[in-house]
Amino acid sequence: MISKKKALEMLDVIDGMFPDAECELVHENPFELTIAVLLSAQCTDVLVNKVTKSLFNKYNTPEDYLEVSLEELQEDIRSIGLYRNKAKNIQKLCQSLIENFNGIIPSTHQELESLAGVGRKTANVVMSVAFGEPSLAVDTHVERVSKRLGICRIKDNVRQVEDRLCSIIPRSRWTKSHHQLIFFGRYHCIARKPKCEVCPLLNDCREGQKRLKAGLVKVEA
Ligand code: SF4
Repeated sequence: MISKKKALEMLDVIDGMFPDAECELVHENPFELTIAVLLSAQCTDVLVNKVTKSLFNKYNTPEDYLEVSLEELQEDIRSIGLYRNKAKNIQKLCQSLIENFNGIIPSTHQELESLAGVGRKTANVVMSVAFGEPSLAVDTHVERVSKRLGICRIKDNVRQVEDRLCSIIPRSRWTKSHHQLIFFGRYHCIARKPKCEVCPLLNDCREGQKRLKAGLVKVEA
């Protein structure tokens, strides 16, 4: 693993590349954000936004989601991966919101994680984006980028990646860094085709150097 100092230097470069990174899930309140994040598992934000445009017109409150049959809700989100389970979780989440939280999205990690379909990553996103509490949610982009750069070990699990990043990055920067790492992974260090040729981090990147040696990266002399 690289040193904390080197990791911070890399994160500063990413900060410069994506200074305006922010949550790309369209939402108007914590409830809509929670539904959108739940839908986004193994799915692109672009597709989620397409679906939620009509979904959030039809459903405004937890009660609305419970007034329809499970089949109808499944149909409404059918173009999203794992739609059957996600629809079930949305209805369970709404039920629990009504029974335990007066129909309002709670604002603590523990309460959020008690809701169906809400794990640590979703709770972190909701806490930071909806309630402004610094959090560093680790999604597929954050994990891949952190490992490629050598900030974390390849074998680290999601929680270890989160702990390592949080130990390196000042708390006040957690939320911003979370969005910047996502943008970096989504638009630059792309899963299948990272843009190593034009990457300012190539010299220090573990994965980039591996690709360079393997002849997968052609850099002009
Ligand atoms: Fe990603 Fe390549 Fe840049 Fe490394 S050098 S961060 S693998 S784009």
